[in-house]
Amino acid sequence: MTSSVISSVTSTVYGHPRQGPNRELKKAVEGYWKGRVSAQDLHRTAARLRGANLQQLADAGLHEVPTGDFSYYDHVLDTSVMVGAIPVRHRAAVQQDALDGYFAMARGAQDVLPLEMTKWFDTNYHYLVPELGPYTVFRADAGKQVGEFTEARALGLIARPVLLGPVTYLLLAKPAPGVAPDFEPLTLLDRLLPVYAQVLAELCAAGAEWVQLDEPALVQDRTPAELNAAARAYRDLGALMERPKLLVASYFDRLGEALPVLAKAPVDGLAMDFTGPAAGNLEDLAAVGGLPGKRLVAGVVDGRNIWINDFEKSLATLGTLLALADRVDVSASCSLLHVPLDVTTERDIDPQIARWLAFARQKTTETVILARGLARGTDAIAAELAANRAALASRAASALTHDPAVRARTAAVTGTDARRPQPYPERAVAQRTHLGLPLLPTTTIGSFPQTGELRAARAELRAGRIGQDAYEGRIEAEVREVIAFQEKAGIDVLVHGEPERNDMVQYFAEQLTGYLATRHGWVQSYGTRYVRPPILAGDISRPEPMTLRWTRYAQSLTDRPVKGMLTGPVTMLAWSFVRDDQPLGETARQVALALRDEVNDLEEAGTSVIQVDEPALRETLPLRSSGRAAYLAWATEAFRLTTSGVRPGTQIHTHMCYAEFGDILRAIDDLDADVISLEAARSHMQVAGELATAGYPREVGPGVYDIHSPRVPGVDEAADLLHKGLLAIPAERLWVNPDCGLKTRGWPETRQSLENLVAAARRVRTEVDAAGA
Ligand code: GLN
Ligand code: ZN
Repeated sequence: MTSSVISSVTSTVYGHPRQGPNRELKKAVEGYWKGRVSAQDLHRTAARLRGANLQQLADAGLHEVPTGDFSYYDHVLDTSVMVGAIPVRHRAAVQQDALDGYFAMARGAQDVLPLEMTKWFDTNYHYLVPELGPYTVFRADAGKQVGEFTEARALGLIARPVLLGPVTYLLLAKPAPGVAPDFEPLTLLDRLLPVYAQVLAELCAAGAEWVQLDEPALVQDRTPAELNAAARAYRDLGALMERPKLLVASYFDRLGEALPVLAKAPVDGLAMDFTGPAAGNLEDLAAVGGLPGKRLVAGVVDGRNIWINDFEKSLATLGTLLALADRVDVSASCSLLHVPLDVTTERDIDPQIARWLAFARQKTTETVILARGLARGTDAIAAELAANRAALASRAASALTHDPAVRARTAAVTGTDARRPQPYPERAVAQRTHLGLPLLPTTTIGSFPQTGELRAARAELRAGRIGQDAYEGRIEAEVREVIAFQEKAGIDVLVHGEPERNDMVQYFAEQLTGYLATRHGWVQSYGTRYVRPPILAGDISRPEPMTLRWTRYAQSLTDRPVKGMLTGPVTMLAWSFVRDDQPLGETARQVALALRDEVNDLEEAGTSVIQVDEPALRETLPLRSSGRAAYLAWATEAFRLTTSGVRPGTQIHTHMCYAEFGDILRAIDDLDADVISLEAARSHMQVAGELATAGYPREVGPGVYDIHSPRVPGVDEAADLLHKGLLAIPAERLWVNPDCGLKTRGWPETRQSLENLVAAARRVRTEVDAAGA
């Protein structure tokens, strides 16, 4: 680095965790739902949290703060509100009360279905899918954006409103119910752009110099028509007379074919990701001749992982970029929404390891340091550079990251280790005799309601107010209740209910060597649901069995089969922060071998049905198709490595949430699981049809109870869904189950829903028997 001074380099981020240091937002929103917090108090809490966040960013030295990224539930839903795309079924509620209507769109009401929810690109954040049709009438409502921008201005800050861009908004949308399924929301672009124009004009009038439009959908493979739409959108928005400067942002992967389109567009700047799979943006940018006359915001601090930045590497990237744009600013690669707030609150993490980690606050500081280094030369950040170098060196040399026994075991894995010896038809026969289940067997996905008492018991154990024995006594009581309920309700394959698990990944992570758990590392998953992803920090091994005790106990209470319940290797990676110092496939293999030992131990202890959940298989799919085959190869191998050490009569189940499976049908088949349960209630059994069309040969349980909503499905409704399922999947291979685990539901609705589900299964069973006779 030279020591020349470039005074114009600034630092920024695109968004910040919304929850507050103690998840105050979650508490306020949930309090509002329960009627304990007034709307006014909710708004007040939210405004206070926004103000504190902004102040924090400014205090860290950030030059330009983002606004509009805050949300009571989800920023895509906020965008639907901003453009007036309220589904017909929610209009009355929204008109009566905007806030209640907003939450009804998110969560549904007894008689009104919510919007569909799905993963935000390849992250574990979920957004509410906009529902559009040819008759959608957009109407601008800039209130939230203008309000939040004005708040930041009032604090004396330079603020940049962040909006979801119009192209990505339409590409994320689905045809509304009742609209032809081949309707393409992108055809609404010309009607949507004037609404964006109006929001931009209002932000301009409120004093915004720059506005950011996020277009992450442009880092996916896009058709020429879609790229044309993007060109048209930014030509039109760029041509507006009364507008702020426009910064078009992309992240999570390289822009590829969309880069020349945006580079040519009459916008004022691009924000691009230069981390992980998006690092190729650097050479792509050089290849298109850079961004003459434009501002480039360079995302060099990984916004979605928790490792400290490599300052030298980032400064080298930034130095190269200086020659490629009119002005270069420094940022995190995406919104900091995807990382926890502050690593300094993690008192349980060894300080020697904590120095390898950076959460949102630390990443903000890194951004500021890099901007200073870029502007004033490396001398201006000499101390920070030295500390950074030392921390990186200590990680590379640590014993935690290199366990010779683990390394030897993964190196010795062969193809046959990852294949069950018998083909499925043989296993199916063995399992039928071994298990003796009825037609259309009923089961659940694993967890039962995690009651306040259970969470309190765990907190008391942690705080030392109760001992291990007392805690285990409470868990046993819960397991007894769950087993008794299932027997009484007439469920065929039981579960123990997972009351001992705080979270399906964390529970295992805490017992595996090489994993770090955090105490306060909460990250938003959807709405008010937050998770604490553990950190895959070193080589993984299993010191002792992890689930045996509870599965055994549950089985001792009943003659019906109790499913063993594990989280699969791909999901263990997907919902953790992963190592960035070795290929993901290597980490997956280490985890798979540890889980394989658990599967074999469960079988040895008499468990005949073992479920290995892989709800994250699809979300980790690389965004661009060029990376997919390699990913699916290691991902499916890791699953089979976990599950293939069992006898033919032992039935392996797997489970996945969410309904967009089209592009991984082959991989689902490749898992070679005997039974798969899937989300289907919210997407109306579409998935059953897709599997059938693809010739899926094994057993399937498309969910007939949407557990993401407090709604209780009626017997007729569940039976109806089963009828739809039977159109695609023969009765001998159809299972009856909810969409997902029940841990977020309450007991009363769970009881009622499962009783209805069993009643529906019995009714349809009788129909099938009668038809066969
Ligand atoms: N077995 C887990 C549960 O029921 C599965 C959850 C999931 O797939 N997300 O909670
Ligand atoms: Zn699920």
